[in-house]
Amino acid sequence: MTRDDALALDATDPLAPLRDQFALPPGTIYLDGNSLGVLPKTTAARVAEVVTGEWGTGLIVSWNRAGWITLPQRVGDKIARLVGAAPGELVAADSTSVNLYKVLAAALDIVRADAPQRRRILSERSNFPTDLYIAEALAAERGFELVLLDTPEAIPAALDESAAVLMLTHVNYRSGRMHDMAALTRAAHAAGALTIWDLAHSAGAVPLDLNAAGADFAIGCGYKYLNGGPGAPAFVWAHARHVERFRQPLAGWMGHAAPFEFTPGYRPAAGIARYLCGTPAILALAALECGVDSVLAAEPLGGLAALRAKSLALTRLFADEVRARCPQLRLVSPETEAERGSQVCLAPRDEPALAYAVVQALIARGVVGDFRAPDILRFGFTPLYLRHVDAFDAAVQLAEVLASGEWRRPEFNQRQAVT
Ligand SMILES: *Cc1c(COP(=O)(O)O)cnc(C)c1O
Repeated sequence: MTRDDALALDATDPLAPLRDQFALPPGTIYLDGNSLGVLPKTTAARVAEVVTGEWGTGLIVSWNRAGWITLPQRVGDKIARLVGAAPGELVAADSTSVNLYKVLAAALDIVRADAPQRRRILSERSNFPTDLYIAEALAAERGFELVLLDTPEAIPAALDESAAVLMLTHVNYRSGRMHDMAALTRAAHAAGALTIWDLAHSAGAVPLDLNAAGADFAIGCGYKYLNGGPGAPAFVWAHARHVERFRQPLAGWMGHAAPFEFTPGYRPAAGIARYLCGTPAILALAALECGVDSVLAAEPLGGLAALRAKSLALTRLFADEVRARCPQLRLVSPETEAERGSQVCLAPRDEPALAYAVVQALIARGVVGDFRAPDILRFGFTPLYLRHVDAFDAAVQLAEVLASGEWRRPEFNQRQAVT
């Protein structure tokens, strides 16, 4: 592949116009949309309108007149289109960590009622730590055991009569490895266990069909591929067969059947609204809606199937160029494309310390990826706004940083709080 080949691919890319939706800083190749998506051009004006118009002028009347009170549902219905959920099945609220607490608690209550001998929550040791911390705390609180598996291959054998819940992140945050949601959900159900899928690195990046997979619960993140802005609200989904069986434990008034009756006793709302807790963060939801709309803009161009095809083309191009140009690095992400999310992870072959410093040196050159301890260089490829030539140029710059040794400079070796 030459740079001209990459430019030729961009010239015929049917998704290329989607890039214009974003306020990308000039001179930046942004390979971190899996950690914080970029700013859509519509967001600033929309948030300003909510602040000065709906809040500043409409004041409290805007809860009704501007539809604030149903914003978690309205944004949720849009996210539902990206994850294979039906309208009314998903709400945007709280953080991914908090939503995991809600759905895991609900799942454990279902198991306790239906199959009390099942005591194990299964997950992967490599899962994102917040997921494991929440599960560890809930397991201790409810008398369950959290069992961590070392490889995806170990999951089927662990699904035995002791398994209560299989809790997985669909695309691993560090390796980029993607699970087969339908197959693992089938295996879990065949063994009598429920499934919880964390879609943090999947929603807006890869095609998903929660209902076709028959998944039990799902949660996901608003600020990664959904471009909702830093700390954007997350989302939560429960399959229709479960949603009304149990109340989730954070039984706040926004999940009540009639919050404005102000009655002392809790009655859960019908459907997924019971997974709401407190007052929705309207400014953040307004920004999230703009981000979700930027992904939905791909629908007339083939939607997530088309985005997925481009994402694979980008990760393939980048991985191939790195293989050819950077002998110091090895590919950590799966070679098999069906198992690869929308990111490429690399690790040093010999010198672990170079991972952090190389990422810093690249950022100084305007190629923004991130570092994940202990030794991963992580590059997210968001097909909505990245071009083939960006993937090509990023690989060339990476090779230059390595070959020149510029990553050894002291300023690139100062570890900062957020990596
Ligand atoms: C990013 C991410 C989170 C983030 O959780 P917050 O509550 O938003 O901090 C959780 N789980 C996974 C798998 C993630 O990738």
